[in-house]
Amino acid sequence: MEALWIGGEWRAARDGGLREIHCPADGSLVATVSEAGPDDTADAIAAAREAFDAGPWPATVEAERAALLGRVAELIERDAADYARAESLDTGKRLVESEYDMADIANCLRYYAGIGGTEAGRVVETGRADAISRIVHEPVGVCALITPWNYPLLQTAWKVAPCLLAGNTFVLKPSELTPSTAILLMKTLAEAGLPSGVANLVLGAGPVAGPPLSEDPRVDLVSFTGGVASGSAIASVAARTVKRVALELGGKNPNVVFADADFETAVDFALTAVFLHSGQVCSAGARLVVEESLHDQFVAELVERARAIRLGGPFDEAAQAGPLISAAHRDKVEAYVKQALADGAVLRCGGERPADPGLVDGFYYRPTILDRCTSAMACVHEESFGPVLTVETFTTEDEAVSIANDTDYGLAGGVFTGNAGRAQRVAGRMRHGTVWINDFHPYVPQAEWGGMKRSGNGRELGLQGLDEYRETKHIWHNIDPKPQYWFPR
Ligand code: NAD
Repeated sequence: MEALWIGGEWRAARDGGLREIHCPADGSLVATVSEAGPDDTADAIAAAREAFDAGPWPATVEAERAALLGRVAELIERDAADYARAESLDTGKRLVESEYDMADIANCLRYYAGIGGTEAGRVVETGRADAISRIVHEPVGVCALITPWNYPLLQTAWKVAPCLLAGNTFVLKPSELTPSTAILLMKTLAEAGLPSGVANLVLGAGPVAGPPLSEDPRVDLVSFTGGVASGSAIASVAARTVKRVALELGGKNPNVVFADADFETAVDFALTAVFLHSGQVCSAGARLVVEESLHDQFVAELVERARAIRLGGPFDEAAQAGPLISAAHRDKVEAYVKQALADGAVLRCGGERPADPGLVDGFYYRPTILDRCTSAMACVHEESFGPVLTVETFTTEDEAVSIANDTDYGLAGGVFTGNAGRAQRVAGRMRHGTVWINDFHPYVPQAEWGGMKRSGNGRELGLQGLDEYRETKHIWHNIDPKPQYWFPR
């Protein structure tokens, strides 16, 4: 049993406990891991601090750091089958989705490998002959990287790649529910030649293993992806020691469909938007905002197709969606549906656990559509993070925008229309960090990812993602120093 990777060594926790990891699809035992207590996490921070202050990594030229990321991408591709299997066993997600994620992860690493070593800062005009002035980038220091369970390794790669490229050291704390691919990643980083102490891993529940990551003054940056409650608590503690904090939080993402949209396309994307990974996607289009004149036809088609979605475990090749991550999470989703129905929503399909005896040991929930919803309902403005689509209607473009923006979140959204001008007008007015037109969910590493409002303050991916992990420094050099005699001699 391996669990904590600290200073280049595997070790069991000193003050933590053990956790059994069970596959959410059938409850089978996947692994038993040793979880960190606060003292273990402090040890990991000390190792990362030592590696930053005295180790070779921060001073390694960027092109070499980039080359290492390229090697990591190759190794992950070599071991993709093991990685994908481990990810699916922890999350219950279909193997094909995990395989897709591994390809995305290699792509992300290659993106950062590709931009590394291409920029040497810039020289700025001083207006003087006796001085030169440079703007350079430097690593921030020790980074705490905290990740959720829905895309365990993808979310990790989005942080680890820019963090390492910029020359930082880190302590990674994945979700306590999905540790397996983080363990594999530590082995891959070591095989790729990352110096000891640069990457450190602690496992465990947030309130037990996590607090030193935001409290400890030796940590310079916290990059957190997860829920709003955890993120805002972490940010407020981290503020005491003025750490940099990047938050990638939840979303309640509207999918606005106008009557002039291509019907087949819009229905198809509306389904993927919400039911991909059983709705456990931060950018899930869980809030359908459809033009009233299209409503009946659109919802009827959605319901028919949602009813046909086949649920199953990671290795069931006929399955189209998997289980929820845990019993507690399914209870939460069920409570949202129950409350919405009590508040007047109309259940069009789902709203129950599947009766199939082959699925009773997993945390499955049928794809659910709640019609005639309003933004006052908790299920509409809060993140249920399950396979639950709420339906609202509009009659004018202004009303569509107003409904789409009627949320505390601002992560992502979609607009479907055949009118190019309207598409741009509506996308421009939607207060969400990413807006897809006639599409839902695609992202590319080159484009930054991040939310507005309570969806967070950080940007991941792209150059801005890299800048989260770099200090920008101005170096002024007087190249002809002479006494100035501000004060008379
Ligand atoms: P969560 O907030 O419960 O946990 C996220 C991580 O934070 C876990 O590793 C957890 O152990 C850790 N944590 C919690 N409290 C901590 C503390 N005090 N100190 C240190 N670590 C602590 O979220 P979750 O249930 O794992 O993930 C689901 C959430 O993540 C959803 O809200 C989803 O929208 C969000 N998410 C956002 C994005 C994005 O890009 N914006 C991507 C994926 C998931």
